[in-house]
Amino acid sequence: MPAQLISGTALSQQIRAELSQRTAALATRGVTPALAVILVGDDPASAVYVRNKVKACAEHGLRSVLEKYESSFSEDALLARIRSLNDDMSVHGILVQMPLPAHINPQRVIETISTAKDVDGYSVRSAGELLAGLPGFRPCTPYGCMKLIESTAVSLKGKHAVVIGRSNTVGKPMALLLLQANATVTVCHSATPDLGFFTRQADVVVAAVGRRNTLTRDMVKPGAIVIDVGMNRDDAGKLCGDVAFDEVREVAGWITPVPGGVGPMTITMLLVNTVESAERVAK
Ligand code: NAP
Repeated sequence: MPAQLISGTALSQQIRAELSQRTAALATRGVTPALAVILVGDDPASAVYVRNKVKACAEHGLRSVLEKYESSFSEDALLARIRSLNDDMSVHGILVQMPLPAHINPQRVIETISTAKDVDGYSVRSAGELLAGLPGFRPCTPYGCMKLIESTAVSLKGKHAVVIGRSNTVGKPMALLLLQANATVTVCHSATPDLGFFTRQADVVVAAVGRRNTLTRDMVKPGAIVIDVGMNRDDAGKLCGDVAFDEVREVAGWITPVPGGVGPMTITMLLVNTVESAERVAK
């Protein structure tokens, strides 16, 4: 029997409907959750991502503050803008769209965002909170993957989860979130010999590589949950993930499609983090 699809589109809609109720409740207390989005330069893909974030805010009762700067904008000026937004009590989340022009140090920029407003969860302090199991903002993509896994109602306790990829924004935080949910976690990467040896033992596989067909049918345990974070293009230019979807769905128990899986969840969890930040302030 082919795997059940885990629809990120449907789950996103459900979470966003709940969010609209939370923003409505905040509005009765005179609070509008606000997300500041800073875009430096003219990268076309970044412009699309920023537009989608601004649109999602408008659709769910959040206010967005979009600041666009020329690629020549200096690092000092950018840091000054972030400090000013840190001090602005009407702003609850700050996001600087990556990548930044080469003359700007991205880590310095991220570390300048107040931890209380780091709704992307990328700062070292937010990463430390996740590592220590303290409350804080979780990076949106792995946070969304956890929601997708939760939606299957399969308990992670005692399960073996294999994460393929160890980036600071996806793979590593994903592994920590799975660990927190009581899974036994293995992290694989480009120097892992025989990836299939590990994935064949996995009850849950999260593929976050950026290379199509990384996970094939012979590498998947029957009934496993497969979460595909990858965003790649096939030979026809069509969006595809890291998982060989058509063949893996024949053995997996659950699988996310690309598009319509992890992608929609990332912006949704950004909205969730921003609303949560506003709720903390409104307490
Ligand atoms: P990244 O920083 O390039 O990290 C990729 C990871 O994959 C690295 O840890 C790398 O290992 C590992 N890797 C590369 N080749 C491998 C192989 N043959 N076998 C096993 N591991 C291998 O990428 P990322 O930012 O984590 O993103 C991963 C993918 O997710 C990309 O396609 C990206 O576009 C997508 N993504 C999607 C969303 C979404 O919203 N849907 C959000 C974020 C990212 P090393 O560390 O050894 O180099």
